[in-house]
Amino acid sequence: MLLFSTLALLCLLPLLALCAEDYYKLLGLSKDADDRQIKKAYRNLSKKYHPDKNPNDESAHQKFVEIAEAYDVLTDPDVRKIYDQHGHEGVKQHQQGGQRGGGGHDPFDLFSRFFGGGGHFGRGQRRGQNMEVRINVPLRDFYTGAEHEFKVSKQAICDDCEGSGSEDGQRDTCHKCNGQGMVIQKHMLAPGIFQQMQMQCDVCGGRGSTVKHKCKKCGGHRVVRAEESFELHVEKGMPQGVRVTYENEGDESPDWEAGDLVAHLEEKEPEIGKEDKERTDGTFFRRKDQNLFWREVLSLREAWMGGWTRNLTHLDGHVVQLSRERGQVVQPGTVEMISGEGMPIWRHEGDGPAYGSLNVEYVVVIPDAMDSSMVKDFSSVWDKHRKKSGIDLFADSGRPTPKPGGHDEL
Ligand SMILES: [Zn+2]
Ligand SMILES: [Zn+2]
Repeated sequence: MLLFSTLALLCLLPLLALCAEDYYKLLGLSKDADDRQIKKAYRNLSKKYHPDKNPNDESAHQKFVEIAEAYDVLTDPDVRKIYDQHGHEGVKQHQQGGQRGGGGHDPFDLFSRFFGGGGHFGRGQRRGQNMEVRINVPLRDFYTGAEHEFKVSKQAICDDCEGSGSEDGQRDTCHKCNGQGMVIQKHMLAPGIFQQMQMQCDVCGGRGSTVKHKCKKCGGHRVVRAEESFELHVEKGMPQGVRVTYENEGDESPDWEAGDLVAHLEEKEPEIGKEDKERTDGTFFRRKDQNLFWREVLSLREAWMGGWTRNLTHLDGHVVQLSRERGQVVQPGTVEMISGEGMPIWRHEGDGPAYGSLNVEYVVVIPDAMDSSMVKDFSSVWDKHRKKSGIDLFADSGRPTPKPGGHDEL
């Protein structure tokens, strides 16, 4: 019994350790990290583990929530002190004691976490414009599904000053409004009659103070131009023109919540690829919704006499075989529908077909010229056949009356 409980305890230990990962370690910081370092680490990590960038990744999701928790604790000076002295248990007791206060906001609301403090911004808050990008994806990726990375140049909050514009956090009282944030403006409505209007100070933007030493990286502008990479998950069968939204990844500013970055997926013009997998017939399939279209060329002999085989390489390299037995005729312009060889149905569920169809149109090419011996050979075949079926070209010239049960010509 004793052995059993010891074993059970041993099994539990790693679990306990997992729940209580050190907050500093989690953010990659030392114990004496200052507020700015904490914010910076959190900003970077929360972006890395954001669910938008890690779809269907449960462990990234978990990490994201843990990072948020660490950030909440370490950026509240009182709670941080408790954590430093009493660890996770201390913080837990503190929170259960009804002292939750500003802690525990929604880990997904990144903006209010950075700039809003208590999360009181709500829906009514100012929001930046959405950014739109167009991404060209080859048809093959729409067929097989694919992971891509793309880069976007956007306005980003300066990392060095965390969007304050200040090198050291020191601020001067604004000289124009004397720290009020507001100035009175007089408008003359008529001679001797003034209207007084209170307006936001344009020097400090209503903050009442100006930055003493401007941040060297952003020059006090609080934002910089930065290139950021995004993961693009192209799902099997996604329609052309589909929009993929990256929440709050548009241009950033400390003054508003970033809008979304919206990627439009378009189909890339097909081209002969360099790699083997890019050199399939499928590269040149045309897509319409869930169906694919292809034009196959047959020679006159093939169309008429049959006895041929074609191996079409599909977008993922698998082979679709087209063939006719000897004697099977293909009329020019015939469209053969091969079900199950079209595009995958996007987010397919249930019993319906998982793929659309591939529609092959047959084009028959008649040779431009024949050498004289061929003309002779063919003529004799026609003549022989005419005699056999009793067609007299002179009597039946124009439009011959069809004979029941037979063709008028070969
Ligand atoms: Zn001012
Ligand atoms: Zn800066």
